[in-house]
Amino acid sequence: MPESFDVIVIGAGPGGYVCAIRAAQLGMKVACVEKRATLGGTCLNVGCIPSKALLQSSENFEETRHKFAEHGIMVEGVKLDLARMQARKGEVVGANVKGVEFLFKKNKVTWLKGAGKIVAPGKVEVEGQTYETRNIVIATGSDSTPLRGVEVDEKQVVTSTGALELEKVPGHMVVIGGGVIGLELGSVWRRLGAEVTVIEYLDRIVPGMDAEIARQFERVLGKQGIKFKLKSKVTAAKQDASGVTLTVEPAAGGAAEEVKADVVLLSIGRRPYTEGLGLAEAGVELDERGRVKTDGHFATNVPGIYAIGDVIAGAMLAHKAEDEGVALAEILAGQAGHVNYGVIPSIVYTWPEVASVGESEEELKARGQAYKVGKFPFTANGRARAMGDTDGFVKILADKETDRVLGCHILGPDAGGLIAEVAIAMEFGASAEDVARTCHAHPTLSESVKEAALAVDGRALHI
Ligand SMILES: Cc1cc2nc3c(=O)[nH]c(=O)nc-3n(C[C@H](O)[C@H](O)[C@H](O)COP(=O)(O)OP(=O)(O)OC[C@H]3O[C@@H](n4cnc5c(N)ncnc54)[C@H](O)[C@@H]3O)c2cc1C
Repeated sequence: MPESFDVIVIGAGPGGYVCAIRAAQLGMKVACVEKRATLGGTCLNVGCIPSKALLQSSENFEETRHKFAEHGIMVEGVKLDLARMQARKGEVVGANVKGVEFLFKKNKVTWLKGAGKIVAPGKVEVEGQTYETRNIVIATGSDSTPLRGVEVDEKQVVTSTGALELEKVPGHMVVIGGGVIGLELGSVWRRLGAEVTVIEYLDRIVPGMDAEIARQFERVLGKQGIKFKLKSKVTAAKQDASGVTLTVEPAAGGAAEEVKADVVLLSIGRRPYTEGLGLAEAGVELDERGRVKTDGHFATNVPGIYAIGDVIAGAMLAHKAEDEGVALAEILAGQAGHVNYGVIPSIVYTWPEVASVGESEEELKARGQAYKVGKFPFTANGRARAMGDTDGFVKILADKETDRVLGCHILGPDAGGLIAEVAIAMEFGASAEDVARTCHAHPTLSESVKEAALAVDGRALHI
């Protein structure tokens, strides 16, 4: 008799491993299939965690070299030990992936090691062994989107995975794509000494984010030394021992030019990953972009097969995948699992950071929503001045009639931490006045959020 489970989750990224743990907490017998040697998926192994480790290390290096002196801290002979920095990143990743293994043991989730294939509804094959299950959860995530004419070798032409592993600081790094991953990793290598050029097809960076914030963000990154080539497309990459030569054309068409680089980071987005899963044979439908089609409750068209995370529609973010994992486990247990897609924060972990939640001004305009805007700059915040981090501002958008908060966009120090209070406010349906009348400790960066909320009604105090 094959071993049988209540739930088999395929993929142990933040969507899959969280779903497995929550289902086990709710009393189900759970297995999670993972083909990687360690648990945690893209996020813990080659995504969020290693990138944040390098962002932190490179920011420390940058501060020591360029910011300490203004505080009267004079440090001489600062040197980069890249091998040590990379080893530390490895230790951070190691601690996190081991943590998930511990949580699986604690919650009695069985890790089925190897690639999982759906051989029929209720049957999953791993390493030649078939397991039976009442429910199958597809949580196989995503991988980087390729670009025609640009061959990745993960040495000279790298995806984010290779960009996290470079053993030498490149002289010139060209980043193809001005999205979150490209800007974060471009920032890492710029701080460590590379010249960085970002080539972006559109006329702006971080597409989808509030345009005013994006413009200001581009200016701040420009001041830091990152160069931008917007409205441009890369059509070919030629490699030789001396580096990579890119052919770049205006997006609207026109004369091509050549751009030379030591390392090229291809980061034009990510695409759902469903290779070898047997979805066609099982009859599971995909949408036009190759994502697993689901209804509002994560169910595919095949009864007993569900999907969550990067492999389905929606923001490709770890916390979105996690929340879907929890919601689905609760639905499978007969509870009312739910994800509020209107309140999913999104963060760029450069310095300053960019964070947003809810709708942008462009989205509000597009749907004809009347709104009010309140803004407050960090130059007027005492704590930001004390930190020497005054770039950026907080922008709150509220319903013109009801004052309900509809969105918040922040460029500034610790924007990612600050956005959490607005997410909670929005989750509770708060008005800008509710945020403005909440006592915020002084002196904190969060006073800028309060002041922006006051500004919605034209009554900011410190500007
Ligand atoms: C460089 C980088 C930085 C990022 N930074 C952030 C960030 O700061 N914050 C954030 O929210 N998001 C970030 N992301 C995005 C985040 O990593 C993803 O949104 C998240 O990992 C999606 O989780 P998931 O569970 O859907 O899939 P994944 O994490 O991709 O996990 C899927 C897992 O399934 C496994 N798998 C696939 N097919 C099979 C199979 N047939 N059998 C067995 N196993 C299989 C894969 O090996 C993988 O481990 C980043 C991504 C990258 C690349």
